[in-house]
Amino acid sequence: MAGVPLDGKKISAQILEELKPRIAALPRPPALAVVLVGDNPASQIYVRNKIKACHDLGIRSMEFRPSGDISTECLLETLSGLARDRSIDGILVQMALPPQIDTERVMSFVVDPSRDVDGFGPTSLGLLVANKPGPRACTPAGVMELLKRYNIPIAGKHAVVVGRSDIVGKPMALMLLHANATVTICHSRTRNLAEECRRADILVAAIGQPALITAEHIKPGAVIIDVGMNRLTDATIVESLFEHDDFRLASFAKTGSTLVGDVAPLPMQALSSFYTPVPGGVGPLTIAMLMANTVQLAEQHQ
Ligand code: NDP
Repeated sequence: MAGVPLDGKKISAQILEELKPRIAALPRPPALAVVLVGDNPASQIYVRNKIKACHDLGIRSMEFRPSGDISTECLLETLSGLARDRSIDGILVQMALPPQIDTERVMSFVVDPSRDVDGFGPTSLGLLVANKPGPRACTPAGVMELLKRYNIPIAGKHAVVVGRSDIVGKPMALMLLHANATVTICHSRTRNLAEECRRADILVAAIGQPALITAEHIKPGAVIIDVGMNRLTDATIVESLFEHDDFRLASFAKTGSTLVGDVAPLPMQALSSFYTPVPGGVGPLTIAMLMANTVQLAEQHQ
């Protein structure tokens, strides 16, 4: 029997709807500062979507666009200025930063946890490790919300997270651990990735490699969370991955590109019990959780 798709769009809409009365109850609208360095096209799209989500909900957003050749020191000065402004509830620095910027220093800076809306700073990460309240990284927090709202049990299950980035893999593994899963983290040096993955009742792929996870990695009946978002333009690859999906092939023929996750779509649908489609699974939740974090910080500040 084919797996059931987990509808990230529907859950994201629920989360956003639930935020509306909380925003209305605040003395002033929550305020989010978004810093976008340079003109990376993908980052521009992410920022545009985040600002639109703020606008739709009545969250005040401010966009700061330092030029792409800014130094780390100047960027930190801009962030210091924002951090002093008490009318701002959350500060977000859009990743990835240009190569001359010391990303680690920037990530450690935005880090008064009461403004760290992305939950990336070391204090927020420490709070997560200790399972204490604090802002949580939006993508893994969105995955947890999705599992919760579909009543998918986690306690006692074996979860395998492929990927160990600070923004997805590591916090994802910790959140699953705090929900009492037994957790294995895999990465590029893992030997026998397929064997490790086949032990998973819940398999999370956060790798950034199109369709790396195939049938040989999947235990039949597993819950599969595909965080990956990879844009494909090669017709041969698209046809081999989506031969079963006429709608997708037609849309690729029209636009010349399509998105695929880190899990091959056909085995994911055929072998899982539940799975997140790409697009429409994890993606919409990231922005919803960003809005939820902003509102939560505003509630604390006001
Ligand atoms: P990173 O590149 O920071 O991390 C990728 C991780 O995958 C690393 O830990 C790396 O291991 C591991 N990895 C790479 N190749 C392999 C391999 N062959 N076998 C096993 N592990 C491997 O990526 P992110 O965590 O930032 O993002 C992961 C994916 O999620 C991307 O596709 C990204 O676009 C997507 N994403 C989606 C979001 C959404 O809203 N849906 C939000 C954020 C990200 P190592 O550490 O050893 O190098």
